[in-house]
Amino acid sequence: MKIVVLIKEVPDTWGERRLDLETGLVDRAGSAPVLDEIDERAVEAALSHADAHPGTEVVVLTMAPASATATVRKALAMGATSAVHIVDDALRGADLLLTADVLAAAIRRTGFDLVVAGNLSTDGGGGVVPAMVAELLGVPQLTALSSLEVTDDAVSGDRVSDAGTMRVSAPLPAVVSVTEALPEGRFTTFKGIMAAKKKSYETLDAGELGVEVEDPAQARYIMLSVAERPPRAAGTTIVDEGDAGEKLAAYLVAEGVA
Ligand SMILES: Cc1cc2nc3c(=O)[nH]c(=O)nc-3n(C[C@H](O)[C@H](O)[C@H](O)COP(=O)(O)OP(=O)(O)OC[C@H]3O[C@@H](n4cnc5c(N)ncnc54)[C@H](O)[C@@H]3O)c2cc1C
Repeated sequence: MKIVVLIKEVPDTWGERRLDLETGLVDRAGSAPVLDEIDERAVEAALSHADAHPGTEVVVLTMAPASATATVRKALAMGATSAVHIVDDALRGADLLLTADVLAAAIRRTGFDLVVAGNLSTDGGGGVVPAMVAELLGVPQLTALSSLEVTDDAVSGDRVSDAGTMRVSAPLPAVVSVTEALPEGRFTTFKGIMAAKKKSYETLDAGELGVEVEDPAQARYIMLSVAERPPRAAGTTIVDEGDAGEKLAAYLVAEGVA
């Protein structure tokens, strides 16, 4: 079985995150880059299956700047078998559609039984790349799984919604996206880090995948402008002098809340 895990490098969730106001892209120098936590869980899910099913191949795939190599190597150190890194400056600022085109082309080239992705990245937060990839590959997709079981010919799991929990299943090949309800990624060990240095690490550009970046026939979205979020205004403090309830009610009425 071959499992391809989609991984993305993002700015550290706990660090300061900024947009570059010139380009509208993440200011990658602004905080330490890390493997997105949701994708660590996706890698973990694939590795747990591989642990129990020897012969399972886990390929990690990313489309990211060349500087993301250390992040990809982390997934190899966790235990992934090999990595494919799409590096192409022409892809800088790629929208969701182009990202999905590129990832689907790479997955087709690699071959797959199952693709595992995060359901929503912590920086871009589009939450649609896995669905787009499934559509382009022409395979079923299970979204936002909070548990994952893989057999030789099917994948299934739980999908939690406000209304209840659905048990869903699809025949392989398929694409699934997972939520933070899945277990955290395992720690890397010194042995894992050393072993990662010898693992296959393929780099490709868009041309090698047959993807035309500037294809006018393809729908693309364009960012027209970007602005920093204005600083938050100071809040209103209600001092309790025995009448805080009345003041609070009056405040809520004035704000149109009540
Ligand atoms: C040179 C270069 C510079 C880039 N700069 C930025 C940037 O500044 N900001 C930015 O957000 N993106 C950047 N990207 C990546 C790309 O444009 C985004 O990944 C894409 O728009 C996805 O958006 P999202 O995070 O909202 O997707 P979502 O749909 O929220 O992602 C859901 C899941 O899809 C998978 N996924 C998403 N993107 C990728 C990817 N690129 N590779 C592998 N798996 C993926 C992951 O499993 C993720 O958890 C850059 C790419 C390149 C090549």
